[in-house]
Amino acid sequence: AEEILVRSEKMSVAGQLAAGVAHEIRNPLTSLKGFVQLLQAGIDGKDEYYKIMIDEIDKINSITSELLFIAKPMTDDRKEEIISCMLQDVIILLNTQAKIYNITLNLEVESDQTIYCNRTQMKQVFINLIKNAIEEMDKGGVISVCVTSDQNYCYIEIIDQGPGISSHIIHKLKEPFFTTKKEGTGLGLMISNKIIENHNGKIDIKSNQDIGSTFCICLPLSKKETN
Ligand code: ADP
Ligand code: MG
Repeated sequence: AEEILVRSEKMSVAGQLAAGVAHEIRNPLTSLKGFVQLLQAGIDGKDEYYKIMIDEIDKINSITSELLFIAKPMTDDRKEEIISCMLQDVIILLNTQAKIYNITLNLEVESDQTIYCNRTQMKQVFINLIKNAIEEMDKGGVISVCVTSDQNYCYIEIIDQGPGISSHIIHKLKEPFFTTKKEGTGLGLMISNKIIENHNGKIDIKSNQDIGSTFCICLPLSKKETN
């Protein structure tokens, strides 16, 4: 019975995704068709139309590339990885973008650990969460990435100084296609959550209005197998 439950849950996620994709791609396609028709009719204002059309194509493009990431058969090769190394890689990658917005990325490692994980997927999660933090901080500031641990778990917190998240949307953040951004896909947190759940962890979201948001990734520490 449990297996059936798990399967039907997976089905509904797939169904949810399919419906979302159809919807998200149909909108820009409808708009594209309209502009092609206008161009065909020889209407003035071509430059403006081309710009909008390219934006719509970009939107479809980013949705499909994020979906391809999900659809990719999970070659799930996991190894012992040092948390701070993965975070350092990601921070180097995102530093250029952060600087443009006057944002400092601070890595604070209180207790470094290794976790048994898929490096590529784990880095994808860190990228998604730090990028989200950057995108909320248009006035600049500091994003702290803190690594702590206790006996059984490690905690990776991404703490921003953005506007926070209002309580009536906080439960929707992990749903596919939920976005408050003009250029958003609403897939980043859904994918991140899936990856962390696959690693037997979870993502907690906390918000302090006007102080910022904290996304806390909790992952089980690797234990030496004793058979
Ligand atoms: P996207 O970034 O494409 O919008 P995500 O799944 O990454 O999609 O995020 C979904 C939504 O969650 C965002 O549109 C935003 O409203 C909210 N969100 C995510 N991270 C933060 C954050 N650090 N601070 C405030 N809101 C956030
Ligand atoms: Mg995002």
